Amino acid sequence: MVYVSQFRRRRPGGGKPPRQSAGSLAGDAPAASGEAAAPDRHTPEGRRALLDRIAAFMLSHGLAVTGANLALVCNALSGASAELAASLAAREAAGEPIDQRWLDTLMRLDPEIGGRMAELEKLTDRLEYAVLRFARTTKTAQDETSGHRGAIGAQIEAMAQASLAGGRAGDLGRVIEMSRTMLARIEQVEQAMEKSQAETRQLRENLARARMEADVDHLTRLPNRRAFERRFAAAIEEARAKGTRLCVAFCDVDRFKAINDTFGHDAGDRILCAIAGTLGSHASDTVFVARHGGEEFAVLLQGFDRAAAWRRLDTMRRAQADRQLLDRETGRPFGKVTFSAGVAEVTDHADPRGALGRADAALYEAKKAGRNRVIAA
Ligand code: GH3
Ligand code: MG
Ligand code: MG
Repeated sequence: MVYVSQFRRRRPGGGKPPRQSAGSLAGDAPAASGEAAAPDRHTPEGRRALLDRIAAFMLSHGLAVTGANLALVCNALSGASAELAASLAAREAAGEPIDQRWLDTLMRLDPEIGGRMAELEKLTDRLEYAVLRFARTTKTAQDETSGHRGAIGAQIEAMAQASLAGGRAGDLGRVIEMSRTMLARIEQVEQAMEKSQAETRQLRENLARARMEADVDHLTRLPNRRAFERRFAAAIEEARAKGTRLCVAFCDVDRFKAINDTFGHDAGDRILCAIAGTLGSHASDTVFVARHGGEEFAVLLQGFDRAAAWRRLDTMRRAQADRQLLDRETGRPFGKVTFSAGVAEVTDHADPRGALGRADAALYEAKKAGRNRVIAA
């Protein structure tokens, strides 16, 4: 499969050098390997050169100016990711298009992104644990101090009474006075601890909310790619432990660029929400739907073999294809908006993550075969 096999393939040393163009990966002074020498990012000239190069690259390949595209091209051209630079250089050298679809595949299957997400996840876990431990320590300290304060206070007052009754003052009176001051200070510390406990509680609530928000796609409110990656890893473990089947699918909206061009980007966003609504309405305990990025959705089907997963995806596809969409804001009909999908079984291969590549290849087959269809790998 040309489309997929290009992914991350390094250009062989003796291969033909990349085409030189305004937006080529090969700059004015290509490095010995034939790949671009990244501009020096520490000088204003270097930064300008990098920006010029990014702009020329995006324009020459007709790429939309999106955050994801910019990040990818910047990582490749700045030298931040040698892997990415090599993938793009190989693609250019092969004379194959660096279009949105290919970039999307690159991003979809990029293990670096998965790795960074896992790293972030671990950091959040550690932060949450540290806050929890802090909350527990303060609570224990507060409980203990408050217990002692009561006992010490009672003792001081008893001594004060005895001292008054015995008509004694002097040293003992001073000790009693000092003890009272100390007690007042302990009370202040206790109040400070109570306040810090309330703040920790708030912090933990905020963290939990941020964690939940971080799993949700802002446009469609479906789970996002981060949530998908987590769920995918957990589903693989569960399928292994229970010996059950697991399938994964990628859905990609058909000719969405033309839809954007016709109705505008904002209307495109509303269409994405409508499609997310259709897909989301088919989600259940065993069917997990996420927006994977751009106009692409990922579906996990737990307990489904390849045939059953295909049937479920095809039901979802038909549900969408049967809808006539109307722009609520303008009353203008959008008409039918369809998607294509590729499904692959995760559990029948040794490498579970390889299923993502197979689902992607099947999606590409579905596109080639005319779109608005589901193909199982
Ligand atoms: P294909 O049937 O081959 O998938 O054609 P396509 O036009 O859908 O594919 P292509 O990958 O060329 O274009 C996808 C477009 O989706 C390009 C990009 O501008 C648009 N897009 C990606 N994310 C969003 C988004 O969040 N909102 C809107 N409105 N458009 C988006
Ligand atoms: Mg796409
Ligand atoms: Mg598309």
